[in-house]
Amino acid sequence: MQSYILSALMAMFVVFFSITVQAYRLPSNDVLTQQSVNLTLSPEQSLFSGQTTLTINYLQNTTTVSYHARALTIKSVTLMYQGQAHVLNIEQPNEFDIVTHQLAKPIVGKAQLEISYTGELSQNTMGLFVSSQQSDASYIFSQLQEMEARTVFPGFDAPDKKARFEFSVDIPKQYDALHNTPVVSSQVQGERKIVRFAPSHKIYTDVLALAVGKFQSVELKDTAFNSIVYAPKTIALNLPTDMNELVSNTVRFMEEYLDYPFPYTKLDFFVAPIDGLAAMENVGLIALNTNQIPQVGADGFEMCRFRKLIAHEVIHMWFGNDITMSWYNDYWMNESFTEFFAAKVVQAFYPDEMACTFNPQSATLSYDTHSTRALRSEVKYRGDNEAVGQLVYTKGRSVFEMAELAVGKAQFKTHMRAYAKQVAGANTSASLFIQHFANILWFKEFINAFITQSHYPLLTLSKQSEQIFIQQSSFNSNQEKSWTIPLTLKIWDGKKLKTQQVVLDKPRMIINNIPADAQIFLDTNGVGYFRYLDTTGNGEFPVEQLSRAERASYSDNQEALAVAAKIDFMRYVDSLINMINTLEHDTSDVSEALSTLQDTFVTLIPESLSGEYAHYLASQLPNISNWSQLLDNQNGGLWLELYGLYLHSPSAIEAAKRMSKNTRLSELNHRTAVLRVLAANASDQAYHTLLSQFTHSDRQVKEDLLDALGYGNSQKQVKAYYDLLLSDVSKGHDIDYRFQFPAFSPKHRAYAGEYIAQHKAAISQRIAEDKLQWFPFNFITACSAKDADIVKNTFADWQDVQGLDAKLSIVLETISECEANAKNSLQSMRDRLGKSMHSL
Ligand SMILES: [Zn+2]
Repeated sequence: MQSYILSALMAMFVVFFSITVQAYRLPSNDVLTQQSVNLTLSPEQSLFSGQTTLTINYLQNTTTVSYHARALTIKSVTLMYQGQAHVLNIEQPNEFDIVTHQLAKPIVGKAQLEISYTGELSQNTMGLFVSSQQSDASYIFSQLQEMEARTVFPGFDAPDKKARFEFSVDIPKQYDALHNTPVVSSQVQGERKIVRFAPSHKIYTDVLALAVGKFQSVELKDTAFNSIVYAPKTIALNLPTDMNELVSNTVRFMEEYLDYPFPYTKLDFFVAPIDGLAAMENVGLIALNTNQIPQVGADGFEMCRFRKLIAHEVIHMWFGNDITMSWYNDYWMNESFTEFFAAKVVQAFYPDEMACTFNPQSATLSYDTHSTRALRSEVKYRGDNEAVGQLVYTKGRSVFEMAELAVGKAQFKTHMRAYAKQVAGANTSASLFIQHFANILWFKEFINAFITQSHYPLLTLSKQSEQIFIQQSSFNSNQEKSWTIPLTLKIWDGKKLKTQQVVLDKPRMIINNIPADAQIFLDTNGVGYFRYLDTTGNGEFPVEQLSRAERASYSDNQEALAVAAKIDFMRYVDSLINMINTLEHDTSDVSEALSTLQDTFVTLIPESLSGEYAHYLASQLPNISNWSQLLDNQNGGLWLELYGLYLHSPSAIEAAKRMSKNTRLSELNHRTAVLRVLAANASDQAYHTLLSQFTHSDRQVKEDLLDALGYGNSQKQVKAYYDLLLSDVSKGHDIDYRFQFPAFSPKHRAYAGEYIAQHKAAISQRIAEDKLQWFPFNFITACSAKDADIVKNTFADWQDVQGLDAKLSIVLETISECEANAKNSLQSMRDRLGKSMHSL
């Protein structure tokens, strides 16, 4: 929805034409070509001052000049027009942070706005912020996405207002400054230093960056742009040795794929502990959180995640930075293309360690309910896009993967090259992209079905009169929606594998040219943004004919069907048990099965059944006599957690105790798992001893303690854990999602809710304003009407938190779906456990 206003005031002056304006956007006829920003600042002072000059070309007569500013104190505004200076009155920004000055006479063509102002450094990772370290080591850094640049300088803070920026800073002489572009001069004047930077390319404000502090640097050898990694001097910087190769591989891959050279000339990194952010694609100065850098000896999955992250940020130089959404409603395009290509880079160069690129959709399907926001939705306020979460990365990537699969790799690449050529250096939108695929009849309907509607389809295969049908419905059947879905089927007739393409664009259709008894796999490549159910009775598709990604997708799909009671729950659990009993202990299928069994305790099993269920699993799963041998495996932690945390196996608990007694925490293998098992089985006194190790541990141990201590088993322990999260000693660590750990346990949910309700003020102080709306997600694994009441009561007084209502409805809808589905699963469980449980 777009709102248009016609200003009565404007109509009085402008007689030649009328202007329609979107109230939340700057006028489209105001073109910023260039902007200089001079800042006087220091990490030791919370106030900074600035002076900026905007060179603007007004394409049409106008009697207003406007720009964005938020939380700045504007001291003076001067309009330079046709050689004359006009001092303008100070005006306050409106609700969209737009400041508007009315002019006495219309202007047109080139003009300059000179603004001087002051602002305040932020404490959160927003705008220009100062690290919360001890003062002699503190530094300033920036995070301007999105709509945050306006807290640093008045400007045209919108993605379609790209301009050349020229920055300079006046800082205490002992510090250095970093920016998107190289330093062109640095002059010490008394106690101060003036650093000037080269003008930027034409970029948008979200990807500007500035750092001021004492920095060290490491060169990434043999990279095309002599990349340098900077970090605050106080930080131990241990980069993977092949990071230079990774950067070079990514650049080369993208240049070849798009036939489009790297759009900039600088590709440096700034590494620091940046609360609440993994990385940010600033042009020429990519930000990277230290906690994303793998430890020495990290496993393949962790390396995969790191590589995908670095590739992602580098790819943003094309998608996001050079090709930019016209408006934030297409922010998903920035992230989805980037994820799509980052997966390709990892798969091309690191095929042995690419598991983290499988099944992008599985991260989102579980919360993409009817209440979830559609991928492409109207954005007016800063918080609107914060509300979209992982969808922009994963749902969008799935959609592109489905498109590529159906269109064919070669044709997709040709279209992508033409598209990139058209929008290079400029702005884009979903419709501009879709236009390039106009020769494919279903393409537009397909993309729109997935980006403009929330939720996803359930595809069901069935057989009737020796014919195979496919039909679609909404995965949870509360509401009917329909999708256009291109599918590549894998068909196995018992001897040969063939593939067939169909486009499902109606509720139900026959699949032609398919043997009635064929086994069919629907999700080729494992990226489909849907769930699927086979009711043909033709048997399961032979697993050896599936790729690793397809197998991962298959098991994820089965888990979802079981939890949603679309297949028999205990039969599914038995298939997992069977896998664990028959495959080697350290295979990835076993890892998957172990973590799925853990999940069932969190997402489904009520407290009253958990003892019985644990007992059943313990009686069916292998008896582990030699834990030290098992713990040598990469997935040893998963074994230990399932047995020690959920099955309360004495030998697993003993193994965890032994390990922590014999080895220092900092050197402990499977540390999180060991700590969780200890916490879950600790007396209050033992728990306290564990907790007291927090203050004098190194950062990584602290992170693991924060991930483990939430598994305490008494109310007293839960309280101690939450108190730790809200105390000063955990500052600099993310705490928001960690409130979920006690709430994982049905036994502690009520107390978790009570504690959170009582500590709203303290929680709000620690969590950034626009992240706070996600807080109800700490209860997303709850599964009963009683739980839903707890969640409602917990957040009854949180109505003032922007965006919270929408998140709360997603959580409540998920809980009520889970409750409805659980009835069948619990019946299946009761039948198996041979008990009737009246309390359920
Ligand atoms: Zn990104």
